[in-house]
Amino acid sequence: MTLAPNTSASSDEMITSINPANGSVAGTVTATSPAELDAVVERAWTAFRNSGWAESLPHRRALVLQKIADGLLAEKETLARLQMADNGKPLGECRGMVESAIGTFRYYAGVCETLETDVTPSRGDYVSLTVLEPFGVVACITPWNSPIMNDATKVAPALAAGNAVILKPSEDSPLLAPELARIALAAGLPEGMLQVVQGKGPAIGSALVAHPGVRMISFTGGTATGRAIGRIAGERLVPAALELGGKSPHVVFADADLDHAVAAVVAGIFGSAGQSCVAGSRLFVEASIYDEVLQRVVDRAKSLKVDAPDAAGVEMGPLASFHHRERVAAFVDRARQEGGRILCGGEAPTGGVFDAGAYYLPTVIDGLGPDAASCQEEAFGPVLVALPFRDEADLISQANGTAFGLACGIWSESFKRCWRIGRALEAGSVWINTYKQSVTSTPFGGFKNSGLGREKGIDGLRLYAQVKSMYFGL
Ligand code: NAD
Repeated sequence: MTLAPNTSASSDEMITSINPANGSVAGTVTATSPAELDAVVERAWTAFRNSGWAESLPHRRALVLQKIADGLLAEKETLARLQMADNGKPLGECRGMVESAIGTFRYYAGVCETLETDVTPSRGDYVSLTVLEPFGVVACITPWNSPIMNDATKVAPALAAGNAVILKPSEDSPLLAPELARIALAAGLPEGMLQVVQGKGPAIGSALVAHPGVRMISFTGGTATGRAIGRIAGERLVPAALELGGKSPHVVFADADLDHAVAAVVAGIFGSAGQSCVAGSRLFVEASIYDEVLQRVVDRAKSLKVDAPDAAGVEMGPLASFHHRERVAAFVDRARQEGGRILCGGEAPTGGVFDAGAYYLPTVIDGLGPDAASCQEEAFGPVLVALPFRDEADLISQANGTAFGLACGIWSESFKRCWRIGRALEAGSVWINTYKQSVTSTPFGGFKNSGLGREKGIDGLRLYAQVKSMYFGL
Protein backbone atom coordinates (compact mmCIF):
# COMPACT_ATOMS: atom_id res chain seq x y z
CA MET A 1 0.00 0.00 0.00
CA THR A 2 1.09 3.60 -0.50
CA LEU A 3 1.21 5.82 2.51
CA ALA A 4 1.02 9.57 2.57
CA PRO A 5 4.25 11.05 3.90
CA ASN A 6 4.50 10.94 7.66
CA THR A 7 0.86 10.17 8.20
CA SER A 8 -0.63 6.94 9.37
CA ALA A 9 -1.89 4.11 7.33
CA SER A 10 -5.62 4.17 7.80
CA SER A 11 -8.67 2.04 8.16
CA ASP A 12 -12.23 3.20 7.68
CA GLU A 13 -12.84 3.75 11.38
CA MET A 14 -12.99 7.40 12.31
CA ILE A 15 -12.00 8.76 15.70
CA THR A 16 -13.78 11.92 16.73
CA SER A 17 -12.28 14.30 19.23
CA ILE A 18 -15.03 15.97 21.21
CA ASN A 19 -14.35 19.41 22.66
CA PRO A 20 -15.11 18.88 26.37
CA ALA A 21 -15.82 22.58 26.87
CA ASN A 22 -19.02 22.42 24.83
CA GLY A 23 -19.53 18.99 23.30
CA SER A 24 -18.75 20.11 19.75
CA VAL A 25 -16.56 18.16 17.36
CA ALA A 26 -12.96 19.36 17.65
CA GLY A 27 -11.77 17.20 14.77
CA THR A 28 -11.62 13.71 13.37
CA VAL A 29 -8.81 11.36 12.42
CA THR A 30 -8.82 7.98 10.79
CA ALA A 31 -7.89 5.00 12.93
CA THR A 32 -5.02 2.79 11.85
CA SER A 33 -6.01 -0.85 11.78
CA PRO A 34 -3.63 -3.41 13.28
CA ALA A 35 -3.56 -5.07 9.84
CA GLU A 36 -2.05 -1.90 8.39
CA LEU A 37 0.67 -1.70 10.99
CA ASP A 38 3.14 -3.88 9.07
CA ALA A 39 3.34 -1.25 6.33
CA VAL A 40 3.91 1.53 8.88
CA VAL A 41 6.72 -0.37 10.57
CA GLU A 42 8.27 -1.32 7.24
CA ARG A 43 8.17 2.28 6.13
CA ALA A 44 9.89 3.33 9.37
CA TRP A 45 12.66 0.78 8.87
CA THR A 46 13.10 1.87 5.25
CA ALA A 47 13.45 5.48 6.39
CA PHE A 48 15.84 4.48 9.17
CA ARG A 49 18.04 2.48 6.79
CA ASN A 50 17.95 4.71 3.74
CA SER A 51 17.43 8.30 4.85
CA GLY A 52 20.89 8.72 6.33
CA TRP A 53 19.35 10.32 9.44
CA ALA A 54 21.08 8.07 11.97
CA GLU A 55 24.45 8.34 10.22
CA SER A 56 24.28 12.09 9.70
CA LEU A 57 26.45 14.33 11.83
CA PRO A 58 24.69 15.21 15.10
CA HIS A 59 24.93 18.79 13.95
CA ARG A 60 22.69 18.04 10.95
CA ARG A 61 20.09 16.35 13.12
CA ALA A 62 20.30 19.29 15.53
CA LEU A 63 19.57 21.68 12.70
CA VAL A 64 16.37 19.84 11.78
CA LEU A 65 15.28 19.65 15.44
CA GLN A 66 15.79 23.41 15.69
CA LYS A 67 13.69 23.88 12.56
CA ILE A 68 10.94 21.73 14.08
CA ALA A 69 11.05 24.05 17.11
CA ASP A 70 10.83 27.03 14.73
CA GLY A 71 7.84 25.42 13.01
CA LEU A 72 6.08 24.88 16.34
CA LEU A 73 6.82 28.47 17.31
CA ALA A 74 5.41 29.80 14.04
CA GLU A 75 2.14 27.95 14.72
CA LYS A 76 2.11 28.33 18.49
CA GLU A 77 -1.27 30.00 18.80
CA THR A 78 -3.02 27.64 16.36
CA LEU A 79 -1.56 24.60 18.09
CA ALA A 80 -2.49 25.92 21.53
CA ARG A 81 -6.07 26.48 20.40
CA LEU A 82 -6.21 23.06 18.78
CA GLN A 83 -5.07 21.44 22.02
CA MET A 84 -7.60 23.49 23.95
CA ALA A 85 -10.36 22.11 21.70
CA ASP A 86 -8.88 18.60 21.81
CA ASN A 87 -8.72 18.28 25.59
CA GLY A 88 -10.23 21.36 27.22
CA LYS A 89 -7.21 22.79 29.02
CA PRO A 90 -7.24 26.55 29.59
CA LEU A 91 -5.68 28.41 26.69
CA GLY A 92 -2.86 29.81 28.85
CA GLU A 93 -1.87 26.28 29.89
CA CYS A 94 -2.05 25.11 26.27
CA ARG A 95 0.25 27.93 25.19
CA GLY A 96 2.65 26.90 27.94
CA MET A 97 2.59 23.33 26.66
CA VAL A 98 3.47 24.35 23.12
CA GLU A 99 6.29 26.46 24.57
CA SER A 100 7.46 23.42 26.51
CA ALA A 101 7.44 21.33 23.31
CA ILE A 102 9.48 24.03 21.53
CA GLY A 103 11.97 24.07 24.41
CA THR A 104 12.25 20.30 24.30
CA PHE A 105 13.17 20.26 20.61
CA ARG A 106 15.70 23.05 21.19
CA TYR A 107 17.19 21.26 24.21
CA TYR A 108 17.67 17.96 22.37
CA ALA A 109 19.07 19.82 19.38
CA GLY A 110 21.69 21.10 21.82
CA VAL A 111 22.49 17.78 23.47
CA CYS A 112 22.48 15.86 20.18
CA GLU A 113 26.20 16.51 20.05
CA THR A 114 26.76 14.74 23.37
CA LEU A 115 26.01 11.34 21.88
CA GLU A 116 29.70 11.05 21.17
CA THR A 117 31.96 8.08 21.43
CA ASP A 118 33.79 7.44 24.72
CA VAL A 119 37.33 6.25 24.22
CA THR A 120 39.31 4.33 26.82
CA PRO A 121 42.96 4.99 26.04
CA SER A 122 45.37 2.22 25.17
CA ARG A 123 46.04 -0.42 27.81
CA GLY A 124 49.03 -1.77 25.94
CA ASP A 125 47.78 -3.76 22.99
CA TYR A 126 44.25 -2.46 22.54
CA VAL A 127 42.04 0.60 22.77
CA SER A 128 38.32 0.40 23.52
CA LEU A 129 35.47 2.62 22.39
CA THR A 130 31.92 2.85 23.64
CA VAL A 131 29.46 4.04 21.02
CA LEU A 132 25.77 4.80 21.40
CA GLU A 133 23.56 3.60 18.58
CA PRO A 134 19.86 4.08 17.90
CA PHE A 135 17.52 1.11 18.27
CA GLY A 136 16.09 1.62 14.77
CA VAL A 137 12.32 1.87 15.09
CA VAL A 138 10.84 2.95 18.41
CA ALA A 139 7.20 3.27 19.48
CA CYS A 140 6.10 6.28 21.51
CA ILE A 141 2.67 6.03 23.14
CA THR A 142 1.23 9.09 24.85
CA PRO A 143 -1.79 9.97 27.04
CA TRP A 144 -4.44 12.62 26.54
CA ASN A 145 -3.62 15.09 29.28
CA SER A 146 -0.85 17.16 27.64
CA PRO A 147 -0.58 15.84 24.10
CA ILE A 148 1.88 18.21 22.43
CA MET A 149 4.16 18.31 25.47
CA ASN A 150 4.17 14.55 26.02
CA ASP A 151 4.68 13.89 22.31
CA ALA A 152 7.68 16.25 22.19
CA THR A 153 9.22 14.76 25.34
CA LYS A 154 9.49 11.44 23.52
CA VAL A 155 9.86 12.34 19.86
CA ALA A 156 12.65 14.93 20.22
CA PRO A 157 15.15 12.71 22.07
CA ALA A 158 14.21 9.61 20.05
CA LEU A 159 14.95 11.47 16.81
CA ALA A 160 18.04 13.11 18.30
CA ALA A 161 19.40 9.64 19.02
CA GLY A 162 18.83 8.68 15.38
CA ASN A 163 15.71 6.52 15.59
CA ALA A 164 12.65 6.37 13.38
CA VAL A 165 9.57 7.02 15.52
CA ILE A 166 6.05 5.66 15.39
CA LEU A 167 3.92 7.90 17.58
CA LYS A 168 0.56 6.80 18.94
CA PRO A 169 -1.37 9.56 20.70
CA SER A 170 -4.38 8.87 22.86
CA GLU A 171 -7.68 8.25 21.09
CA ASP A 172 -9.07 10.95 23.42
CA SER A 173 -6.70 13.66 22.14
CA PRO A 174 -5.64 12.61 18.65
CA LEU A 175 -5.33 15.98 16.94
CA LEU A 176 -1.87 17.28 17.88
CA ALA A 177 0.37 14.38 16.86
CA PRO A 178 -0.40 14.67 13.11
CA GLU A 179 0.40 18.40 13.34
CA LEU A 180 3.77 17.63 14.90
CA ALA A 181 4.52 15.09 12.13
CA ARG A 182 3.52 17.63 9.47
CA ILE A 183 5.72 20.33 10.98
CA ALA A 184 8.63 17.90 11.30
CA LEU A 185 8.38 16.90 7.65
CA ALA A 186 8.29 20.54 6.58
CA ALA A 187 11.35 21.16 8.76
CA GLY A 188 13.37 18.66 6.77
CA LEU A 189 12.94 15.44 8.74
CA PRO A 190 13.21 12.64 6.19
CA GLU A 191 9.92 11.01 5.20
CA GLY A 192 8.99 8.05 7.35
CA MET A 193 11.19 9.06 10.31
CA LEU A 194 8.10 10.20 12.23
CA GLN A 195 4.80 8.50 11.53
CA VAL A 196 1.60 8.71 13.51
CA VAL A 197 -0.77 5.82 14.09
CA GLN A 198 -4.20 6.50 15.54
CA GLY A 199 -6.66 4.39 17.41
CA LYS A 200 -7.65 2.74 20.63
CA GLY A 201 -5.01 1.48 23.03
CA PRO A 202 -6.08 -2.15 23.26
CA ALA A 203 -6.27 -2.33 19.43
CA ILE A 204 -3.51 -0.41 17.68
CA GLY A 205 -1.53 0.39 20.85
CA SER A 206 -1.06 -3.21 21.89
CA ALA A 207 -0.44 -4.28 18.26
CA LEU A 208 2.33 -1.67 18.09
CA VAL A 209 3.90 -2.84 21.33
CA ALA A 210 3.81 -6.46 20.19
CA HIS A 211 5.11 -5.78 16.68
CA PRO A 212 8.43 -7.56 16.07
CA GLY A 213 9.73 -4.58 14.12
CA VAL A 214 9.49 -2.25 17.14
CA ARG A 215 12.77 -2.38 19.06
CA MET A 216 12.01 -0.05 21.96
CA ILE A 217 8.83 1.26 23.61
CA SER A 218 8.39 4.56 25.34
CA PHE A 219 5.06 4.85 27.14
CA THR A 220 3.35 7.49 29.25
CA GLY A 221 -0.03 6.67 30.75
CA GLY A 222 -1.76 4.76 33.48
CA THR A 223 -0.05 2.20 35.69
CA ALA A 224 -2.31 -0.69 34.63
CA THR A 225 -1.56 -0.02 30.96
CA GLY A 226 2.14 0.36 31.74
CA ARG A 227 2.13 -2.99 33.47
CA ALA A 228 0.41 -4.64 30.47
CA ILE A 229 2.95 -3.07 28.11
CA GLY A 230 5.80 -4.08 30.40
CA ARG A 231 4.62 -7.70 30.31
CA ILE A 232 4.72 -7.74 26.50
CA ALA A 233 8.06 -5.92 26.41
CA GLY A 234 9.42 -8.44 28.92
CA GLU A 235 8.27 -11.33 26.79
CA ARG A 236 9.80 -9.73 23.70
CA LEU A 237 12.91 -8.59 25.61
CA VAL A 238 12.73 -5.04 24.28
CA PRO A 239 13.34 -2.07 26.57
CA ALA A 240 10.28 -0.21 27.79
CA ALA A 241 10.46 3.22 29.40
CA LEU A 242 7.31 3.68 31.46
CA GLU A 243 6.06 7.02 32.83
CA LEU A 244 3.01 6.14 34.90
CA GLY A 245 0.54 7.46 37.42
CA GLY A 246 0.93 9.09 40.80
CA LYS A 247 -0.74 9.97 44.09
CA SER A 248 1.77 12.58 45.11
CA PRO A 249 1.95 13.83 48.71
CA HIS A 250 2.06 17.58 49.26
CA VAL A 251 3.33 18.21 52.78
CA VAL A 252 2.90 21.33 54.92
CA PHE A 253 4.81 21.65 58.20
CA ALA A 254 3.84 24.10 60.93
CA ASP A 255 6.90 26.26 60.23
CA ALA A 256 6.04 26.73 56.53
CA ASP A 257 5.36 29.99 54.74
CA LEU A 258 1.64 29.29 54.72
CA ASP A 259 0.64 31.89 52.12
CA HIS A 260 2.92 30.31 49.54
CA ALA A 261 2.21 26.78 50.69
CA VAL A 262 -1.58 27.14 50.42
CA ALA A 263 -1.32 28.74 46.97
CA ALA A 264 0.97 25.93 45.80
CA VAL A 265 -1.24 23.19 47.25
CA VAL A 266 -4.25 24.59 45.39
CA ALA A 267 -2.35 25.11 42.12
CA GLY A 268 -0.68 21.71 42.54
CA ILE A 269 -3.97 19.83 42.50
CA PHE A 270 -6.39 22.06 40.61
CA GLY A 271 -4.03 23.22 37.84
CA SER A 272 -4.95 21.30 34.67
CA ALA A 273 -8.08 20.28 36.62
CA GLY A 274 -5.95 17.73 38.43
CA GLN A 275 -5.25 15.88 35.19
CA SER A 276 -1.55 15.88 35.76
CA CYS A 277 0.54 12.87 36.70
CA VAL A 278 2.32 14.99 39.33
CA ALA A 279 -0.84 16.54 40.79
CA GLY A 280 -0.35 16.90 44.54
CA SER A 281 -3.44 14.84 45.27
CA ARG A 282 -2.75 13.96 48.91
CA LEU A 283 -2.36 16.92 51.27
CA PHE A 284 -0.52 16.16 54.52
CA VAL A 285 -0.64 18.91 57.13
CA GLU A 286 1.07 18.91 60.54
CA ALA A 287 -1.69 18.31 63.11
CA SER A 288 -1.21 21.62 64.97
CA ILE A 289 -2.13 23.67 61.87
CA TYR A 290 -4.37 21.14 60.10
CA ASP A 291 -7.70 22.93 60.61
CA GLU A 292 -6.29 26.32 59.66
CA VAL A 293 -4.56 25.14 56.49
CA LEU A 294 -7.48 23.01 55.41
CA GLN A 295 -9.86 25.95 55.80
CA ARG A 296 -7.57 28.17 53.73
CA VAL A 297 -7.24 25.52 51.02
CA VAL A 298 -11.01 25.02 50.90
CA ASP A 299 -11.64 28.79 50.75
CA ARG A 300 -9.18 29.16 47.91
CA ALA A 301 -10.57 26.11 46.06
CA LYS A 302 -14.10 27.54 46.31
CA SER A 303 -12.93 30.85 44.89
CA LEU A 304 -11.19 29.36 41.84
CA LYS A 305 -12.62 30.65 38.60
CA VAL A 306 -13.96 27.57 36.83
CA ASP A 307 -14.94 28.57 33.33
CA ALA A 308 -14.60 27.95 29.60
CA PRO A 309 -10.94 27.32 28.73
CA ASP A 310 -10.68 30.56 26.74
CA ALA A 311 -12.56 32.75 29.24
CA ALA A 312 -10.66 35.69 30.70
CA GLY A 313 -9.12 34.83 34.06
CA VAL A 314 -10.10 31.15 33.92
CA GLU A 315 -8.26 29.07 36.51
CA MET A 316 -9.79 25.67 35.84
CA GLY A 317 -11.48 24.45 32.68
CA PRO A 318 -13.48 21.29 32.03
CA LEU A 319 -12.16 17.77 32.37
CA ALA A 320 -10.72 16.34 29.18
CA SER A 321 -13.76 14.27 28.24
CA PHE A 322 -17.28 13.49 29.37
CA HIS A 323 -16.39 9.89 30.16
CA HIS A 324 -13.45 11.06 32.27
CA ARG A 325 -15.81 13.28 34.25
CA GLU A 326 -17.90 10.18 34.97
CA ARG A 327 -14.79 8.44 36.30
CA VAL A 328 -13.95 11.39 38.56
CA ALA A 329 -17.55 11.62 39.82
CA ALA A 330 -17.49 7.88 40.59
CA PHE A 331 -14.21 8.36 42.47
CA VAL A 332 -15.81 11.06 44.66
CA ASP A 333 -18.94 8.95 45.21
CA ARG A 334 -16.76 6.14 46.48
CA ALA A 335 -14.94 8.58 48.81
CA ARG A 336 -18.36 9.52 50.23
CA GLN A 337 -19.18 5.84 50.76
CA GLU A 338 -15.84 5.37 52.48
CA GLY A 339 -16.89 8.03 54.99
CA GLY A 340 -15.08 11.02 53.51
CA ARG A 341 -16.38 14.53 54.22
CA ILE A 342 -16.75 16.59 51.05
CA LEU A 343 -15.59 20.04 52.16
CA CYS A 344 -16.16 21.64 48.76
CA GLY A 345 -17.06 20.56 45.24
CA GLY A 346 -18.11 16.95 44.87
CA GLU A 347 -20.37 17.73 41.95
CA ALA A 348 -20.53 19.19 38.47
CA PRO A 349 -21.41 22.89 38.29
CA THR A 350 -24.60 23.79 36.44
CA GLY A 351 -25.94 26.67 34.37
CA GLY A 352 -24.40 28.68 31.53
CA VAL A 353 -21.36 27.12 29.87
CA PHE A 354 -21.34 24.32 32.42
CA ASP A 355 -24.42 22.59 31.04
CA ALA A 356 -22.79 21.78 27.72
CA GLY A 357 -19.31 20.85 28.96
CA ALA A 358 -17.53 18.23 31.08
CA TYR A 359 -16.97 20.46 34.11
CA TYR A 360 -16.43 19.32 37.69
CA LEU A 361 -15.88 21.51 40.73
CA PRO A 362 -12.62 21.61 42.70
CA THR A 363 -13.15 19.04 45.42
CA VAL A 364 -11.52 18.72 48.85
CA ILE A 365 -12.17 15.68 51.03
CA ASP A 366 -11.07 14.85 54.55
CA GLY A 367 -11.95 12.39 57.27
CA LEU A 368 -10.47 9.38 55.50
CA GLY A 369 -7.68 7.15 56.75
CA PRO A 370 -4.50 6.88 54.68
CA ASP A 371 -5.43 3.37 53.59
CA ALA A 372 -8.82 4.33 52.12
CA ALA A 373 -9.03 3.60 48.39
CA SER A 374 -9.54 7.33 47.77
CA CYS A 375 -6.16 8.01 49.42
CA GLN A 376 -4.46 5.20 47.53
CA GLU A 377 -5.76 5.43 43.97
CA GLU A 378 -5.25 8.12 41.38
CA ALA A 379 -8.34 10.22 40.59
CA PHE A 380 -6.57 12.12 37.81
CA GLY A 381 -9.02 14.92 38.40
CA PRO A 382 -9.61 17.95 40.69
CA VAL A 383 -9.86 15.92 43.86
CA LEU A 384 -7.68 16.54 46.92
CA VAL A 385 -7.70 14.30 49.98
CA ALA A 386 -6.38 15.88 53.19
CA LEU A 387 -4.75 14.03 56.07
CA PRO A 388 -3.12 15.26 59.30
CA PHE A 389 0.23 13.95 60.54
CA ARG A 390 1.70 13.94 64.05
CA ASP A 391 5.44 14.01 63.42
CA GLU A 392 8.05 13.22 60.79
CA ALA A 393 7.89 9.47 61.35
CA ASP A 394 4.10 9.45 61.02
CA LEU A 395 4.32 11.57 57.87
CA ILE A 396 6.91 9.35 56.20
CA SER A 397 4.94 6.22 56.99
CA GLN A 398 1.67 7.68 55.62
CA ALA A 399 3.17 9.44 52.61
CA ASN A 400 5.17 6.40 51.51
CA GLY A 401 2.20 4.14 52.12
CA THR A 402 1.00 3.98 48.53
CA ALA A 403 2.13 1.96 45.54
CA PHE A 404 3.07 5.19 43.73
CA GLY A 405 6.24 7.26 43.89
CA LEU A 406 6.16 9.96 41.26
CA ALA A 407 6.58 13.29 43.06
CA CYS A 408 6.16 15.11 46.34
CA GLY A 409 6.13 18.65 47.70
CA ILE A 410 7.50 19.79 51.07
CA TRP A 411 6.84 23.14 52.75
CA SER A 412 9.01 24.07 55.72
CA GLU A 413 11.43 26.86 56.55
CA SER A 414 13.88 24.32 57.95
CA PHE A 415 16.46 23.35 55.35
CA LYS A 416 17.57 20.34 57.38
CA ARG A 417 14.04 19.03 57.71
CA CYS A 418 13.40 19.51 53.97
CA TRP A 419 16.57 17.57 53.21
CA ARG A 420 15.63 14.75 55.62
CA ILE A 421 12.07 14.42 54.40
CA GLY A 422 13.07 14.89 50.75
CA ARG A 423 15.47 11.96 51.07
CA ALA A 424 13.00 9.83 53.00
CA LEU A 425 10.01 10.17 50.68
CA GLU A 426 9.81 7.65 47.84
CA ALA A 427 9.43 9.93 44.84
CA GLY A 428 11.27 10.60 41.58
CA SER A 429 10.82 14.38 41.90
CA VAL A 430 10.94 16.32 45.17
CA TRP A 431 9.79 19.93 45.21
CA ILE A 432 10.87 21.92 48.26
CA ASN A 433 9.08 25.21 48.94
CA THR A 434 7.85 25.11 45.35
CA TYR A 435 5.72 22.70 43.35
CA LYS A 436 5.36 21.31 39.80
CA GLN A 437 8.46 23.03 38.46
CA SER A 438 9.91 21.27 35.45
CA VAL A 439 12.88 21.93 33.21
CA THR A 440 13.87 19.83 30.24
CA SER A 441 17.43 19.43 31.47
CA THR A 442 16.38 17.71 34.73
CA PRO A 443 15.43 14.02 34.62
CA PHE A 444 11.84 13.08 35.35
CA GLY A 445 10.32 9.73 36.28
CA GLY A 446 8.88 7.63 39.02
CA PHE A 447 9.78 5.31 41.87
CA LYS A 448 7.72 2.17 42.56
CA ASN A 449 4.54 1.83 40.45
CA SER A 450 5.03 5.31 38.96
CA GLY A 451 7.39 4.06 36.33
CA LEU A 452 10.67 2.81 34.99
CA GLY A 453 13.35 4.99 33.42
CA ARG A 454 13.85 8.73 33.28
CA GLU A 455 12.73 11.14 30.59
CA LYS A 456 14.21 14.60 30.04
CA GLY A 457 17.84 15.56 30.47
CA ILE A 458 20.69 13.45 29.11
CA ASP A 459 19.01 10.37 30.63
CA GLY A 460 16.05 11.10 28.37
CA LEU A 461 18.30 10.89 25.32
CA ARG A 462 20.11 7.76 26.44
CA LEU A 463 16.77 5.96 26.77
CA TYR A 464 16.65 5.88 23.00
CA ALA A 465 20.19 4.62 22.43
CA GLN A 466 21.86 1.26 22.92
CA VAL A 467 25.46 0.82 23.96
CA LYS A 468 28.03 -0.90 21.78
CA SER A 469 31.57 -1.57 22.98
CA MET A 470 34.34 -1.88 20.40
CA TYR A 471 37.91 -3.01 20.95
CA PHE A 472 40.75 -2.29 18.53
CA GLY A 473 43.95 -4.26 18.69
CA LEU A 474 47.00 -2.06 18.30
P1 NAD B 1 -3.89 5.17 29.44
O1 NAD B 1 -2.91 4.25 30.06
O2 NAD B 1 -5.32 4.76 29.39
O3 NAD B 1 -3.50 5.48 27.92
C1 NAD B 1 -2.25 6.02 27.56
C2 NAD B 1 -1.94 5.65 26.12
O4 NAD B 1 -1.79 4.23 26.04
C3 NAD B 1 -3.04 6.01 25.13
O5 NAD B 1 -2.45 6.39 23.91
C4 NAD B 1 -3.79 4.70 24.97
O6 NAD B 1 -4.46 4.58 23.74
C5 NAD B 1 -2.65 3.71 25.04
N1 NAD B 1 -3.02 2.36 25.46
C6 NAD B 1 -4.08 1.98 26.23
N2 NAD B 1 -4.08 0.63 26.38
C7 NAD B 1 -3.00 0.16 25.70
C8 NAD B 1 -2.45 -1.12 25.50
N3 NAD B 1 -3.01 -2.21 26.02
N4 NAD B 1 -1.32 -1.25 24.78
C9 NAD B 1 -0.72 -0.15 24.26
N5 NAD B 1 -1.19 1.11 24.40
C10 NAD B 1 -2.32 1.27 25.12
O7 NAD B 1 -3.71 6.55 30.18
P2 NAD B 1 -4.54 7.89 29.95
O8 NAD B 1 -5.87 7.71 30.57
O9 NAD B 1 -4.45 8.29 28.52
O10 NAD B 1 -3.65 8.93 30.79
C11 NAD B 1 -3.80 9.08 32.16
C12 NAD B 1 -2.67 8.40 32.89
O11 NAD B 1 -1.41 8.81 32.40
C13 NAD B 1 -2.67 8.76 34.36
O12 NAD B 1 -2.47 7.59 35.13
C14 NAD B 1 -1.48 9.68 34.50
O13 NAD B 1 -0.91 9.72 35.77
C15 NAD B 1 -0.55 9.12 33.48
N6 NAD B 1 0.45 10.10 33.08
C16 NAD B 1 1.73 9.92 33.50
C17 NAD B 1 2.71 10.86 33.18
C18 NAD B 1 4.13 10.69 33.62
O14 NAD B 1 5.01 11.33 33.05
N7 NAD B 1 4.42 9.86 34.62
C19 NAD B 1 2.36 11.98 32.41
C20 NAD B 1 1.05 12.13 32.01
C21 NAD B 1 0.10 11.18 32.34
